[in-house]
Amino acid sequence: MSSLPARGRVKLEAKEQLLKMVRIQELALEIAGAQAVIENAPTRMDEIEERFRDRNTEYVALKDRFDEIEKDLRERNDELGELEESKKKYTHDLMQVQNQREYAATLKEIDAVKAQIAEHEEAVIQGMEETESLGPQLETFSAAIEVERKKVGEERAEVEKEVADARDQVARGQEERQRLEVELPASLAHSIRRVEELRHGRFLVKVEDGMCQACYVRIRPQAAQEIRAASHIHACSQCRRFLFYEPSLKPAAESPGPEKSPAGVEAIDGGSV
Ligand SMILES: [Zn+2]
Repeated sequence: MSSLPARGRVKLEAKEQLLKMVRIQELALEIAGAQAVIENAPTRMDEIEERFRDRNTEYVALKDRFDEIEKDLRERNDELGELEESKKKYTHDLMQVQNQREYAATLKEIDAVKAQIAEHEEAVIQGMEETESLGPQLETFSAAIEVERKKVGEERAEVEKEVADARDQVARGQEERQRLEVELPASLAHSIRRVEELRHGRFLVKVEDGMCQACYVRIRPQAAQEIRAASHIHACSQCRRFLFYEPSLKPAAESPGPEKSPAGVEAIDGGSV
């Protein structure tokens, strides 16, 4: 347990410093949260777009099928026109034949044309049935896709706004933190950064029931008493986090205390952690 020297009006100083540390801790967690929002944004964007891409791929497949059938129907209808012409021609030829052999050959041609016509007609009926069923499906799907496209746009805009807000929050938080750090002894500010890094963001922790609430190590009675009085800045002997007793800081936060100690009062040295 490291204890920092108390001299003169140091009691007030320690409390003020602890209040600033509480605020710095709040800011550090807010900044970390905002940075996480910024870092996660590309993944969230990908997820939003991927969901849309999958749905859109389904839609495009259905649309392609529909277009393919329509194209096939057009081609078959054109061919049917030509086949009908051929049939007419052969039927006419049939009346001009000179002998049995020619007659048989022409009949064969007519039969072949008829078979082709029948095949096309059957395919046309099938195709028309399919487009009749696909058409309304496609229309519903198309409307749904438009709704989703709009929703994707809104969701993207929402993520972009959250990122912009998070950037603001990071900037504001860092600015306020720097202002507060300047008001602390440089060695204490340095220690805060060190413990913060060591403990992944949380450098300050409450004391409750005489225990560090991060690692639950028991605090020596003397130190615990000083923490309760907010007269000294202590750090946990086990996890190295700075310690504070919440109720001791609350009244000071409500009643305006002196902003700055008069010149001549020594600042607390926080570098002994
Ligand atoms: Zn601890």
